[in-house]
This record gives sequence, C-alpha cells and structure tokens, in this order.
Amino acid sequence: MKTIALANQKGGVGKTTTAACLGVGLSRQGKNVLLIDADPQGNLTQMMGWQQPDDLEQTLATLMEQIMLEKPLSTEQTILKQKDGVDLIPANIELSALEVSLVNAMSRETVLRQLLDTVKDRYDYAIIDCMPSLGMLSINALTAADSVIIPVQAQYLPAKGLQQLLKTVVRVKRQLNPKLDINGILVTMVDQRTNLSRGVLEQIRSAYGGKVFQSVIPISTKLAETALENCSIYDHEPGGKAARAYENLTEEVMSHGRSRENRKHEAVQVR
Ligand code: ATP
Ligand code: MG
Repeated sequence: MKTIALANQKGGVGKTTTAACLGVGLSRQGKNVLLIDADPQGNLTQMMGWQQPDDLEQTLATLMEQIMLEKPLSTEQTILKQKDGVDLIPANIELSALEVSLVNAMSRETVLRQLLDTVKDRYDYAIIDCMPSLGMLSINALTAADSVIIPVQAQYLPAKGLQQLLKTVVRVKRQLNPKLDINGILVTMVDQRTNLSRGVLEQIRSAYGGKVFQSVIPISTKLAETALENCSIYDHEPGGKAARAYENLTEEVMSHGRSRENRKHEAVQVR
C-alpha cells in the first residue's frame, strides 16, 4: 500500500477536493483505495456523501483512540464503503479532542501509522486529507505517509507558508519517517486567462522545478459544485477540463511510484 498525504497548513487550497478526485481517479484505474479524513471539519466525509459527519458514531478518532489505549480495533464498523468504489475512514468534530489527547500519548506521532499498518494488505493506496494546520494530526499523517502532495492555490504567490511546510516535511523525514518523499506540488485553481495565475505558476515552477506536477488543476465551478452535489467530477462533467486534469494527475501519481521502483531496479542492475 502506498500512503499519500494531502497537506498544506493554508486553508482552502484544494486538499480535500484533490483527495476525493485522486481517490476516485485511482479507483477508476482499478486500484483499491482507502480515503482517510484527518480533518475534524469532516469535509472529505461530507464530499463522499455523509452530510452529517457529527452523527457518525465511529470515526478516525475512535480508531486512533483504540490504538492509543491498545484496545481491539473496530475497523470493520468504521470503514465506510463508498459508491465510487473507494473506502473511507470518516472524521468529525471528535477528532479535535483526540488531537489534544495525542499530545500526552506514548508514540504520539505514530498512532495513525500504526492504524494504517493494520489495513495495508487490503489497499493499493491510502490517501490522507489533512486539516489546515501543522499540528499533531498533520504530523501523524506525514509520519504515516510514503509521500506528500502539496496543493497550492494559483491566486497567491507562494509565501513563507510553503517554506515552513517543506521544512516540516524535512524534519519529519529526518526524525520520524525516513521514507517520506515529496510526491509533488500541485498548483490548483489555475485561471490561464489571468496574468496572476500564469505568473504564480511560472514562479512556482522556477522555484521548485522538478517537484511540481506537470498537471495543473484549472479553476472550475463544476469542481466546486461536486462538493455540494455529492458526485465525482468524473460523473458530473465527464471529459471536462477538471476531470481531465485530475485524470492526468492520477497518471502522474501512479508513475511516481513506478519511476522510483525503476530506479531501484536500475540500481540493482548496476550492481
Ligand atoms: P481546508 O484547508 O479548509 O481543508 P482545502 O484545502 O481542503 O480546504 P477544498 O475544500 O478542497 O480546500 O477547496 C476549497 C473550496 O474551493 C471548496 O469550496 C472547493 O469546492 C473549491 N475548489 C477546490 N478546487 C477548486 C477548483 N479547481 N476550482 C474551483 N473551485 C475549487
Ligand atoms: Mg479540506
């Protein structure tokens, strides 16, 4: 199982939208996908069709607490099966309290990793939607992940926030998770008609070069509508520019793993 975290402490950059579109995109490619909502706002849970996350009795908070207390896991009751062929560990407001209690827990950074280890044989991909902060839950996500996707919005010049996030990734890699890799920076909400959008895109490419996905996500009201209408972009506007952009991203994400495998393979052959 490859685990990918969607992270940026800046709010409203497209983390949740990307988690949903990538998850469904991978599932459409025949992959078994587990989505993990790691945001107490429960936006991903809502986007996947559970309009009232706070009514759910079993969520990510339940499972993480079971790990912390070394109790038997109720994974079967907690993982929700989705119509788009992806599974979901939902979240609601209870995750806020859980995050507070993590601070004093033993192995507090690895609770999510321990949880995902128990399901890793069942999925090809796990995708974690982080909340807009660099708190303990996001650190757990980075510690559990093989790679991180960082969505940035094309309406703002990449600021100190991105540097701070990249520093956090490096620290987690050094101290907690040596395999952590930057899958890519994803520029979202791109409006090719505006100089601002094009300028931001250019600046990000010149500053971060090979770390930036070739795929960019256009600004699209269709995409914003999917959140309300609870359907995937692939059904809402099949073949549209947003659907195609996320299909391209899905391809790039799948080949990220492949190119690394190839490199490993080559290294073996050279020796
Ligand atoms: P948060 O930090 O609050 O978790 P987020 O980073 O998860 O936010 P989203 O919730 O995915 O961001 O997106 C923020 C808003 O922008 C949502 O209303 C979403 O529907 C909309 N949106 C996301 N991507 C696009 C896009 N490419 N074009 C237009 N609107 C978009
Ligand atoms: Mg979100």
